[in-house]
Amino acid sequence: MRSRKPKIRMEWCYYFDGTKKKRLNVKNIEKEDYIVKYRGKLTCIEGCDARIKFTPKKNGKNFLSTWNKEGSKHKLNCPYHINYNNVVNRKKLIEEEKKVKPNDIQIQSSLKRKLKNLLLEFNEADIPKEKLSTSEINNIGVGKAINKIVDKDGVSDKEASQRITYMEAETINMAYNELWRGVIGNVDNVQTGLTDGVFWGYINLKNQYNRTNIYFPEAYYEGNEFKANNLEKTLNIIKESCNGRENNIIITCYGEIKHKKNTKNDYNINIINPMHILVNGMTMDEILNTGKIKEL
Ligand SMILES: [Zn+2]
Repeated sequence: MRSRKPKIRMEWCYYFDGTKKKRLNVKNIEKEDYIVKYRGKLTCIEGCDARIKFTPKKNGKNFLSTWNKEGSKHKLNCPYHINYNNVVNRKKLIEEEKKVKPNDIQIQSSLKRKLKNLLLEFNEADIPKEKLSTSEINNIGVGKAINKIVDKDGVSDKEASQRITYMEAETINMAYNELWRGVIGNVDNVQTGLTDGVFWGYINLKNQYNRTNIYFPEAYYEGNEFKANNLEKTLNIIKESCNGRENNIIITCYGEIKHKKNTKNDYNINIINPMHILVNGMTMDEILNTGKIKEL
């Protein structure tokens, strides 16, 4: 039985210009430039070896897709891996990812390390470095493929936190819906409020191609008024810090990506624990205690 293909469009890829890999959106590729400039030089935005091709359409809805026969060159946890091209396997990917989550301490140390690395290579594209042997996963089911990931897990904190895959907020799209990812972005503004007496808060990130918001669901404060209060205070400090600030405030966080219903391109990154987010490298507690966001 064939399942219907999920509506997952590839919108981003890496372009190797001879010296550096840069991220590139499908909207910024001109039909006339493709053959001369880009053909053979585009690879998966997840840092996989799979090459990407561009197909122009008369209606302007140009698209990116994996080169023929290179579908399995995507990494196992890449949402564009050929195995996840059907509904059943994609569901399995989502389920299996939930089972292999690192713990809070591992997440926080991964976020810290990520920021440190980002600052070191600030102007370079953020390319995941680890590689899986792609030959191993040819022609095996997604269940088996996932088991290989699970087998490797939980050996040490470092290994566990290295398992977190990072992406830039700008490159979030439907392919990542319901997946857990490390996300990097710059703060645009902070919104807080009360609905029916329940506090809510968002940190909206700067984006050109989509809308991504850091969202703090009730799980973050577990119905605890004191914790909810602290969250509100902390978000207000971040809000004030945005005013007239010249430099970007960088968020590194880890959470489930959720498409917002009835929107075309809005996504929440759900943060369910204070240890799953750093703001300019500061923890939520540090922000609350010092009352400000330090410069990086
Ligand atoms: Zn890939």
